[in-house]
Amino acid sequence: RYTFFKVQSVIIQSKSTNVSPLLPGRVTNCTHRLFCFNIMLLFSFRVIQSKNPAFPVGSHVVSNSGWRTHTLSDGTGLTPILPEWPKDVSLSLALGAIGMPGLTAVYGIEDVLGLQKGETLLVNAAAGAVGSVVGQIAKIKGCKVVGSAGSDAKVAYLKELGFDEVFNYKTVGSLEEALRKASPEGYDCFFENVGGPSSDVVLQQMKKFGRIAVCGSISTYNDSEPQTGPYPYFTMIFKELKMEGFLQSRWEHKHPETLKRLLAWVKEGKLQCREHVTKGFENMPAAFMGMLQGENTGKAVVAV
Ligand code: NDP
Repeated sequence: RYTFFKVQSVIIQSKSTNVSPLLPGRVTNCTHRLFCFNIMLLFSFRVIQSKNPAFPVGSHVVSNSGWRTHTLSDGTGLTPILPEWPKDVSLSLALGAIGMPGLTAVYGIEDVLGLQKGETLLVNAAAGAVGSVVGQIAKIKGCKVVGSAGSDAKVAYLKELGFDEVFNYKTVGSLEEALRKASPEGYDCFFENVGGPSSDVVLQQMKKFGRIAVCGSISTYNDSEPQTGPYPYFTMIFKELKMEGFLQSRWEHKHPETLKRLLAWVKEGKLQCREHVTKGFENMPAAFMGMLQGENTGKAVVAV
């Protein structure tokens, strides 16, 4: 029983073992696992032909079936859009704040960090799909939120979203000083999206018994040599830090309930979502490269 899909919109994301054939250099140069932890592309599809009653014609699903206009599927790996999806909420948010990035933010905050009211949280790549949701949820939970991002426009956007302190890590000079200035008393929690040498600097600004959720390491995905650092153990021992890597798929059983909460926050205006939309299927490679260069504020989406 096959279902036939026509692509409706495409999201550009930055993590997966599903390395695109459009980037063959990344595959042939692959010398260690990180090169393959490169991109994940989720697609929102509309069903245009179906012999599968679980996916009737006209319904919408999300899938990571590759860069394509049409897909033939037996239903495996397809996630139906929430049946109660309101007409006045854009379906493309199923790829962003009310989709995988939103789920990542919730699980990182609640299941990994266990963020508590009154605590101070730092998030980097803060204006991106995951980071912007992380900061807003932390504000909903009554926390102080510090964010870093790569342009002054992104900094201004994050202030609009209610972040308490934001800085442009590209122009700030000393990261250590910027972190101290934003929260002189240090950080209870760190939502890590970027990785690389800056992580070492952040760890030194953590409070004792601080918690770190390692969500992503985007600064290292395109490295041609394996990273040789940072070396966090000394800091971790003496600050008695807890660091945990995670994939949002660990909590797949909670996805429907969590998506409903995200949708409710969006409807209540507590969760704002911006999208960086590129038009045209043929522009997907440019959109993807742009995301890796920080062109996107909010979720990078290709509308087809
Ligand atoms: P974003 O929408 O944030 O886009 C990527 C952003 O990362 C860019 O806009 C840019 O922002 C920043 N960036 C890109 N290259 C670099 C670099 N070399 N150094 C520093 N910053 C860089 O992506 P997402 O929000 O979708 O993803 C954020 C992170 O979360 C990624 O690392 C991703 O792999 C990870 N992730 C993990 C999941 C999990 O289950 N663990 C699930 C989903 C995502 P700026 O201009 O601010 O530098």
